[in-house]
Parts: sequence; structure tokens; C-alpha cells
Amino acid sequence: MSNDGRDRHWRSSRLSQLGSSIFAEVASWKREAMAGGRDMIDLGIGSPDRPPLASVRNALSEAALREDSYAYPAVGSGMPFKEAAAAWMLHRFGVQADPASELVTLMGSQDGLAHLAMAICDPGDKALLPDPGYPIYGASLALAGVQAELMPLREENDYLPDLDGIPSPVWDAAKFILVNYPNNPLSAIADLSFYERLLHKAKKHDVLVVHDLAYSELAFDGCRPPSMLQLPGAFHHIVEFHSLSKSFNMAGCRIGFLVGNRDAVSALRELKDNIDYGVFTPVQEAGIAALREAMADDGRASVSAVYERRRDSFVEALRAEGWTVDKPKATMFIWAKLPKMGWDKGSDWSSRTISQEMLHSCGVAIIPGEAFGSEGEGYVRIALVEEEARLLEAARRIGCFIRGEYRDIGG
Ligand SMILES: *Cc1c(COP(=O)(O)O)cnc(C)c1O
Repeated sequence: MSNDGRDRHWRSSRLSQLGSSIFAEVASWKREAMAGGRDMIDLGIGSPDRPPLASVRNALSEAALREDSYAYPAVGSGMPFKEAAAAWMLHRFGVQADPASELVTLMGSQDGLAHLAMAICDPGDKALLPDPGYPIYGASLALAGVQAELMPLREENDYLPDLDGIPSPVWDAAKFILVNYPNNPLSAIADLSFYERLLHKAKKHDVLVVHDLAYSELAFDGCRPPSMLQLPGAFHHIVEFHSLSKSFNMAGCRIGFLVGNRDAVSALRELKDNIDYGVFTPVQEAGIAALREAMADDGRASVSAVYERRRDSFVEALRAEGWTVDKPKATMFIWAKLPKMGWDKGSDWSSRTISQEMLHSCGVAIIPGEAFGSEGEGYVRIALVEEEARLLEAARRIGCFIRGEYRDIGG
């Protein structure tokens, strides 16, 4: 036997609950395709391909050269970054938050999303999650022993949860409800009137609203996504995750923050005080530079313009190839119904088999909708994380794939 059991022994059963293994599967398809020497266009993972502004990189490197930058930063300190984050919240959304008590710095919002349930829930508690949804949401509940109540997000409801369709006992039993607009993977947006209805429900049933606003700065056609904290009385029932990853091309730096209700914020801070000692000081300084820059130019250097151009040319190119997809209003993602395959019509294509076949036959990596939950079946997610020329090449290859012109190549 080749497997002597060594790679299975020290592994908790909890790990198998950590959501989708499809991302790992897509990664292995990619390795296979690369090993075969194929040029691959990776529109899978939503990691920004461009660098942050020079001023941000300068702040990072200047701080990295200082001798005093290498002590534990400590979660509770780091006031300059929290003050910059609070100033940006005020500038961008008109939201006033106390940086000391209503804001905590995170190693990327993923850090907070992973730990929040552990900090505010007990095992056996329940929480409402979107389906499809970003995988860490479900994983964090599994780690905390919290039970997920899934809210289907469907096209006919503009991909918003049907708040009135959730039975009262489910509302009453839930500790928190998580929403994410602009949405990954759906690209859907929400407006303040939806947030008002949500806050009303949350108050009525004493549920905390957790809003993941990772894509606040990535919206098109003049749209500027609001913060839920703009609503009157929001701080009693809402916390909001912000991330510098997508807004300022800083994904690898790992910095974000949670802002809102002070009980939930301090619970997360208390947990993190036991786990890490804060974000590396140079990264905090780079974050401050990014936020200051955004306030100084009022978002004019925003990454949106780049993604908007990519969106327009890619969607038009795909349509010309015979795959009609909707133009997203926000985010870096296209959420598309499976294409009508011009060949092998009898096959029962799923989001997984189409993605796998597309990667193998024409070297374009995308993510099967199923990776985000059962409601994602029938769709795929395409990330606009390559420059326009490569996106156009991807559209051309996808066209050939749909028509079956690649059928006999590769394996
Ligand atoms: C990318 C992303 C995040 C951001 O994660 P960071 O840890 O801040 O890099 C959070 N939520 C969603 C929905 C995302 O797509």
C-alpha cells in the first residue's frame, strides 16, 4: 500500500467540515494543466493582479527599514491605523465610529470572519448564512460548533434573502445573520432600503447583523455601495467587516477591520488578544497610506475604473462568442449561467464538469458555482483578474470550447 496512513492520522474530523473541497480540486486541475505545459489563464481565485499605489508600497518599505517596527504590535494598540480607518468611515460613508471601542484591526477581514462566531456564539447556537456564500462563513460556524440556517439567494429576488420568508422561530433562534453586498460570488448589490428592512427584523428578533463589505470600493456605472452603519441606530445591532485587499490591491498584506457594535467588537478583540499580537506595523502604515490616499482624492484613483473596463470588454467578447452573461454592477466577478454547449448536448453538464473540462481543454480556470453552496449549481464564477488582452484571449478560447473546437486536443 502506498498510503501507510501517515497523512491521515493527525487530522481532526472538524477539518472535513470546512466547507468546499472544490477549491482544492480546482487547484489540482490547474497543476495538471500546467504540468502538461499549457498556457493557463487563471480567472479562478479573486486575488487582485495589480500592485497597490507607489505611496502605499513606499510607506510599507520605509516602516520595514525602521528598527522599531519589529516588536509585537498588540491587538489593542495600533491606534494610528484605527484612527485612519475611523476617519475613512466618516469620509466615505458619513459614519462616526469610536476607533478605541468600536473598531478592531484584523489580519484581513477573513481573520475576523473566521473568528467572529467563536467570539460571540456558544456551541449549539444558530446563525443565518447566505447560499451561495463565501466559503469562510460556513467554515467559521463549523469551527465554533454553530449551526447554519441557509438563506437561498436567487435571481428572481435580485439575489437578496427573502427576509419575510424566514419563519419567526428561525429568526428568534438565530444569534446573527450574515449578509455580503456587493456580493461574492453573485456580484449583486443591495441598497439602504433593503438594509432598513434587515435592521428592522434584526431589532425585532434581537439578532446581530454581520455585514461583509469587502467590495465597497469596487462598483461600476457610478454606483457607490453604502455602509449598513449609515442607518440610524445601526450600532446597536450591526457590525461590518472592511478589507483593504480588494479596495487597494493589498490582498497579500492581510489587513482589514471590523467596525460597529462595541460588544461584538470587543468580544472579537478579546479572542484575538489570545491568538495573535496584531498586524505587522509596516502593514498598518501601508494601510494608513492607502486610506489617506483614498480620502485625499475622494476615490478617484479607485480600482473600479480598471475592473469596469475589463468587465465591458470581456462581457462583450463572451457575448460575441455566443455566451450571454449579465454585466455585474460591482465586484471583480462575473456570475454566469452555464453556457449552452454546442457539442455533446446529451451530456449532463454541471458547474464542476464544465469548469474542469474548460481548464483541461482550453486552459482557462474558473470556479464552479457549486463551490459556494448548493444554490450555486448551474452557475460559474469568473474573476476579472487579468489584463484586458488576456481576458479577450480567454473569451476567444471559451468560445472555441463551447463550440467544441477543442474537443480533440489535450486530455
Ligand atoms: C476577498 C474577500 C474578503 C477579504 O478577505 P481579506 O481577508 O480581507 O483579504 C472578504 N469577504 C469576501 C466576500 C471576499 O471576497
